[in-house]
Amino acid sequence: MNKGIEIARGKTKVLYEQAGQPDTLVVTQLDAISAGDGARQDIIAGKGRLAAKTTGRIFRLLNLCGLPTHYLSGGEDDDDNEMLVRRCNMLPLEVVVRGVAAGSLVKRKPGLQRGALLVPRVIEFFYKDDANHDPLIEAEQIISSGMAAPLEVGAMSEIARLTFDILAHAWRRRDTLLVDLKLEFGRITSGDGKGSLVIADVVDNDSWRIWPQGREDLMLDKQMYRNLPSVSPQDLERVKSAYENVAEMVGTFPVMRPGMVAIICDGPDFMEQGAKIVNALNAFGLPSVRHVASAFKTPGFVLQLAQQLDATFARLIFVASGAAGNALLPMLEGVTTNPTLDGSDAPEIIALRCAKALALEDTVLFGRTLLTQTNARSAVLQADASLNATMAQNTSLA
Ligand code: 5GP
Repeated sequence: MNKGIEIARGKTKVLYEQAGQPDTLVVTQLDAISAGDGARQDIIAGKGRLAAKTTGRIFRLLNLCGLPTHYLSGGEDDDDNEMLVRRCNMLPLEVVVRGVAAGSLVKRKPGLQRGALLVPRVIEFFYKDDANHDPLIEAEQIISSGMAAPLEVGAMSEIARLTFDILAHAWRRRDTLLVDLKLEFGRITSGDGKGSLVIADVVDNDSWRIWPQGREDLMLDKQMYRNLPSVSPQDLERVKSAYENVAEMVGTFPVMRPGMVAIICDGPDFMEQGAKIVNALNAFGLPSVRHVASAFKTPGFVLQLAQQLDATFARLIFVASGAAGNALLPMLEGVTTNPTLDGSDAPEIIALRCAKALALEDTVLFGRTLLTQTNARSAVLQADASLNATMAQNTSLA
């Protein structure tokens, strides 16, 4: 790719603008590693390539889950460390999510046990200012200084929490504890979605703390480098090999595990209900097959179908679509070793149950489930708020 002209350079990345493409930028990550606000600085040959790989894979995962990010493409493998992103105006903030007490939090709160689980997650904002060591900033200060609107502060907290939970799920599948995570946000400068808030910058092995098997002494992230009393070439080799390991593991994060939902309609009358379930499954990107087979009229066909489907799909869920209390459900329960759901429930609930079951081994589905639940929750809260606003208006008119 022709990167275009350099428009900005930071400690660990360079931004380029391509001719005639004002809405996008090319990001290249550098081989530099630093700690203590630049007090310690080294070069690890190949680190930039690994950071681009990690960032591309993480952003692709977040996009697949439905989170708003600036990421378009690239960075992962077959390019020259070139990630294509939407152009953003960056907010001068670091948004930190913590699931386990560590780092600056335990320094600030000595009563807090290092390694303690934090539920709900702790969300903190830091003002980006190297000279003053990125001080903690309260949400009220962010709003009163005009840096961000109240709704934007709420959105950043919610998106950061969701991102943390999605990445924690992905790391858990690799038997690794995600301790904390730093994100940065920007507003899209032009084109589609102009002004909207998105996760921007990079998310790489410098952005989090990760403890394999929940053990701090096995850490694989940048804290390894920060903790070194002095830096030898062997130390840098060890750090590089951890970064390689992480980039490799992150490669599996956006990979969806094939799953299948088999909807068995208990006669022609239930085909319409089956179609509604298919639509609800599509919202999660879940594939499905449909058959019509009646427990009373074609019981042999039901048994044959169940056996055929069991033998065909590895991760399969059956949905018995019929009248409430139908005989198809217990019949399927008896013959298949795969989970079986009652298809007379609301299609959205059935789809959510399927997504939850398949999400155990699929982080993309886990993320989509989490976002669906969050959106459902906020729809309820918004409905309540608008109802009460209307009631207050009516009261004042009266
Ligand atoms: P702490 O506030 O405990 O030092 O850091 C919290 C989390 O944010 C850790 O995962 C840490 O790696 C990350 N973090 C904090 N400051 C920076 C920074 O300046 N750059 C990067 N890449 N990550 C940071």
